[in-house]
Amino acid sequence: MPKINDFAHSKPTWCPGCGHFAVLNALSRAIIECGLKKEETVCVSGIGCSSKLPEYLDTYGLHTIHGRSLPHAQGVKLANPALTVISVGGDGDGFAIGCGHFIHAARRNVDITYILMNNQVYSLTKGQTSPTSDRGFITKTSPEGAQEAPVNVLLTALTAGATFVGCGFSSDVAGLSSLIAAGIKHRGFSFINVISPCVTFNKLNTYDSYKKQSYKLSDIAGYDPHSYEKAIETAAGYFEKKPLGLLFKTETSIFKETHISEHPIAPAMQDIFNPQKHSHLMQKYLRR
Ligand code: SF4
Repeated sequence: MPKINDFAHSKPTWCPGCGHFAVLNALSRAIIECGLKKEETVCVSGIGCSSKLPEYLDTYGLHTIHGRSLPHAQGVKLANPALTVISVGGDGDGFAIGCGHFIHAARRNVDITYILMNNQVYSLTKGQTSPTSDRGFITKTSPEGAQEAPVNVLLTALTAGATFVGCGFSSDVAGLSSLIAAGIKHRGFSFINVISPCVTFNKLNTYDSYKKQSYKLSDIAGYDPHSYEKAIETAAGYFEKKPLGLLFKTETSIFKETHISEHPIAPAMQDIFNPQKHSHLMQKYLRR
């Protein structure tokens, strides 16, 4: 049985106390729980403090460009469906420049897992309001406080069509690890919003404030994650009370089944040096 340290690649440079340490730990545990091999696992990120995570995890990794983690992750999965693909990143990366990609990844339902490490601030650039910052959040570049309403990432995921939506907290590594493992096992696009405090640039949304705001869905009698209506209602209350656990899950066809299953061999596994093996594609697209 592998140990967490077996998946450690290099020493993280995150600030002491950063919530992202717990996400790395929980993800490593989930990989072990799912029995994934390093060489069959790919972690993909964009840009930001959280997007450094693939460098610290000893699997294959791609540290891509700002907001483009999901297009790269989907590309990897479609090129080689045998791989387990996990995309990670922050709220600035995923819900500002990457928001369009998020919506289409959710409705496309490619079989990948997306972990949002949500600290409600741009931290790599030293503290500006992000798309999930609370109204009134004061930073050096918003001295009068954030004016815009924050994006509700859970509602966005649900309404965009994500087939697995969960919420974890980096102060609960065991719960977060189980949630990530469930997301990896789910066939389809899994979205996990992780409350992951930035102890350096966000003094408003702290471990203590999140603890007061959050509750476990498993403590709600009769909560059924297969009810879309209940998930919407629960997600709508996110800014007042943060629900931890699995909000919603459903099974439907994944993108691979509907669009690339006609290809006998995954694109990444094809012999690109033998043009004869691609003659079916040439016939299909050069018919006229
Ligand atoms: Fe973590 Fe914030 Fe430090 Fe970045 S600046 S490593 S998000 S605590």
